[in-house]
Amino acid sequence: MRESLTQIVYLSYILASVLFIFGLKMLSSPSTARKGNMVSAVGMLIAVLATLVHQDIIGYQFIIAGLLIGTAIGAIAASKVPMTSMPEFVALFNGFGGIASLLVGWAEYQRILTAGVDIPIATSLPIFLAILIGGVTFTGSLVAYGKLSERISGKPVLFGAQQVVNAVIMALVLVLGLMFVFRPETNYGSFIVVIILSGILGILATIPIGGADMPVVISLLNSYSGLAACAAGFVITNTVLIVSGSLVGASGIILTKIMCKAMNRSLTNVLFSGFGSVGSAKGADVQGEANPITPDDAYYVLESASSVLFVPGYGMAVAQAQHVVRELGEILEKNGAEVRFAIHPVAGRMPGHMNVLLAEANVPYEQLVEMDEVNPSIETVDVAIVIGANDVVNPAAREDESSPIYGMPIINVDHARTVFVLKRSLASGFAGVDNPLFFKPNTRMLFGDAKASIQALVTEFKES
Ligand code: NDP
Repeated sequence: MRESLTQIVYLSYILASVLFIFGLKMLSSPSTARKGNMVSAVGMLIAVLATLVHQDIIGYQFIIAGLLIGTAIGAIAASKVPMTSMPEFVALFNGFGGIASLLVGWAEYQRILTAGVDIPIATSLPIFLAILIGGVTFTGSLVAYGKLSERISGKPVLFGAQQVVNAVIMALVLVLGLMFVFRPETNYGSFIVVIILSGILGILATIPIGGADMPVVISLLNSYSGLAACAAGFVITNTVLIVSGSLVGASGIILTKIMCKAMNRSLTNVLFSGFGSVGSAKGADVQGEANPITPDDAYYVLESASSVLFVPGYGMAVAQAQHVVRELGEILEKNGAEVRFAIHPVAGRMPGHMNVLLAEANVPYEQLVEMDEVNPSIETVDVAIVIGANDVVNPAAREDESSPIYGMPIINVDHARTVFVLKRSLASGFAGVDNPLFFKPNTRMLFGDAKASIQALVTEFKES
């Protein structure tokens, strides 16, 4: 009976792993992403149920208590948190993943110590990795959360000999870690110091990163949380945790690479250069006169446009304008225009932020285009409508060598025949860099909340 139950558990783990892999594959295209999410969720349900019947579980009371408390906190947070705070919550969830793995490693170490048996290297090594990566992920994610939610300054914090300090801490962690790995039974002190040092390392590794480089940090921490879970899987020899942790770790690294490429930066440069730090490049002074436009006048231009390109950014998320944007898109299409939505990989505040919002508003997938696809023919676009995007359309990235964002590929909306920029003021974006786009002769500023401005355009079309 016990034998066959174990076999069922293992078979369920294999099934869950297969579902994770297929789910992940489906997430790579917008048209299959929702289904992919569902497939992975079913995989997770199977994995959880299989784990719950596992003979290693000695009591359900803590699981039930954890489930109740976690569900209550999750439900309250999900109903209270505004959509615009989602990115910082994703950062926080990465951190929770990290601390969970750290605690699994710690608990297992404590359990074996109490049992008084020898701890093999095959167990002590993953315990060390789980607490190290888990600790770095936890505190690093808390800093990322603080930066994204503006509880702490988004600017990079740099101090003299920062990298030397980091290197010394890393060396200490390695020495103490090796002591622990080879003699875990007698090195409890080293174990605790490694936990503390990895927490400090997480903070020190994240505070020097700021400005437009934050997307890389978010995806890197996401990858770390997966690697920590993978290590925890080895600690408790749970295959499905090893597989799912590796998948998160690998996909996080791929995403990190995509984000770096989207900013034309190397990972080392992102991690150590201190983007936008005090005293570093600020970019040339941007001056000129912006040309405002009213919804009334904007309507006449749009009415005769045969090709319209929407470029959403963080401001669309703030305004929650995605539904009314879709409505305007439909109206323009009925009016005979070709309508497309160009998505920059780092637009918004989390990877895929714009895709999620546009999918929520049921914007047809075939209208979504990537930056590389749209840029070569952007001169043929009659009107580019920039909805609360700023850094991702800033021509300084192309033109001003002294700009901190110089070299970052952007959507070249300034090459379109006419550009409407929908935002509330001439303020800079997340990177804090002025934007010469606002003063270009073919740019018209439609000032105001993006949702209200788009709604006004929709009304103009409906009333005409
Ligand atoms: P930006 O942050 O550059 O600009 C957003 C603009 O939206 C602001 O300039 C603001 O101008 C405008 N805005 C805010 N609220 C509204 C509103 N209600 N209506 C209309 N406009 C509004 O956004 P982008 O998407 O262009 O760029 C993303 C930036 O965030 C990049 O620098 C990226 O590196 C960074 N980042 C991205 C992450 C990711 O994973 N995607 C993660 C972390 C950071 P105003 O105040 O004048 O209205």
